[in-house]
Amino acid sequence: MSSPIVDLVPPEMIARYEPVIGLEVHVQLATATKIFCGCPTSFGAPPNANVCPVCLGLPGALPVLSREAVELAMKAAMALHCEIPPVSRFARKNYFYPDLPKGYQISQYDEPLAVRGWVEISLEGAARRIGITRVHMEDDAGKSIHDGFKDSDRYSYVDLNRCGTPLIEIVTEPDMRSSDEAYAFLTELKQVMQFVEISQCDMEKGQLRCDANVSVRPKGAEQFGTKAEVKNLNSFRFLKMALDYEIARQVGVLESGGRVVQETRLYNPDTGETVGMRSKEHAHDYRYFPEPDLVPLRISEEWRARVRAEMPELPAEKRRRFIESHGLREYDAQVLTATRTLSDYYEKAAAAAGDAKAAANWVMGDLMGALKAEGKEIAESPVSAGALGELVALIGKGEISGKLAKEIFAKMFSTGEAPAVIIEREGLRQISDTAALEKIIDGVIAANPKQVEQFRGGKATVLGFFVGQVMKATRGQANPAAVNELLRKKLG
Ligand code: ADP
Ligand code: ZN
Ligand code: MG
Repeated sequence: MSSPIVDLVPPEMIARYEPVIGLEVHVQLATATKIFCGCPTSFGAPPNANVCPVCLGLPGALPVLSREAVELAMKAAMALHCEIPPVSRFARKNYFYPDLPKGYQISQYDEPLAVRGWVEISLEGAARRIGITRVHMEDDAGKSIHDGFKDSDRYSYVDLNRCGTPLIEIVTEPDMRSSDEAYAFLTELKQVMQFVEISQCDMEKGQLRCDANVSVRPKGAEQFGTKAEVKNLNSFRFLKMALDYEIARQVGVLESGGRVVQETRLYNPDTGETVGMRSKEHAHDYRYFPEPDLVPLRISEEWRARVRAEMPELPAEKRRRFIESHGLREYDAQVLTATRTLSDYYEKAAAAAGDAKAAANWVMGDLMGALKAEGKEIAESPVSAGALGELVALIGKGEISGKLAKEIFAKMFSTGEAPAVIIEREGLRQISDTAALEKIIDGVIAANPKQVEQFRGGKATVLGFFVGQVMKATRGQANPAAVNELLRKKLG
């Protein structure tokens, strides 16, 4: 769906401008308990079941910072190549909202957890770094649910289960120059967060939320234009569509002699448009001040080193290694690092196969095809990584042909059995034994005198016919190389 404005503002007009985009991304940390109390963070509990005096903001209750939340936030910061200063500080961000019982969020303000990082994105083969301004920690608010249509029958409900769930907010530099770059950035960010197991980043569950700041300037201009902030982007597709709409809208405003006002706009997925919500004149004054109930957060060298030691390999590093030491193509490396589970599977299969490239082909081809056909995830694969690797190793050793391997794979997939078990039971081992093959070949030659004559008369292509006959006689189990060699010798 493209919205009216995107169609109204001519592309050549839009092409005279350069968009400037910066994102503010919230990621819910995958801790078992909330950031300042011991309530569970589990999703889908009955409303207001996971609450206590601390997350309800009852008078006199005191927050206690979760070590697990800090460590996940530190890992996120490290994965984004940020600096983590030795001291950071929590601050109160005051505003009224029915689902915020304390009347303030505990966030971080001028002394955030981490600063100055970057994420590398790759678009059409060109790599670019997008700067990360800061990463800070905060607690989430609850949820308001509005119900009913008629005035006489309208209710609002408040569910505080989410209240106090740990979040990090990641703020980027205004470094992106197109909606595609913003899309690529968010994709990479999500992948990194998932790899490091900071969050599952399920957008539908609100574990990943993104606001986009966007402005346009005439190409070649030094100064940035006035930005608008677009909220309510709860899918990757909406992010891209909202940005394209907003870029066209701002160009349209400027080209008709107007000026862009700094404001917050809401994306409406039903119309594909962004709508002004509040202008900067009505912007919140959050009256930030240092949180008096929490001491400053001090991160020692030791603590930092211990957390760093737990960091897994990042997807970009893994991709590079797959290309450099496994000899994979860039595209294949990308596919195989799409998730941590898939890349772990692939590495195990490659180790068992002893042939990283062949293993890559089997994982991306037969395995992913079969999984997709049954709507299964890699984690649910009936074929273990070790078993798939064994199968590939058997082909490499010449014990089964590639064609036979495909049949065996299908059986592995439906039974979950190891290849050796299937081969043994069904007598599928490849026949490389010369004496046995010779007997079969002699039979085939004797049964087809006409073709023998044709071959000897110079029609070399008839060899294929003989190979086919031998394969048929052996149910595909003859070693093709051995068959070719013996046939040539005998036909001569
Ligand atoms: P504010 O004071 O409105 O909070 P900030 O300077 O803190 O603005 O930036 C908030 C976000 O907006 C950041 O992600 C930043 O990269 C982005 N941003 C800042 N200026 C612009 C601009 N002119 N155009 C697009 N994005 C911008
Ligand atoms: Zn609680
Ligand atoms: Mg700001």
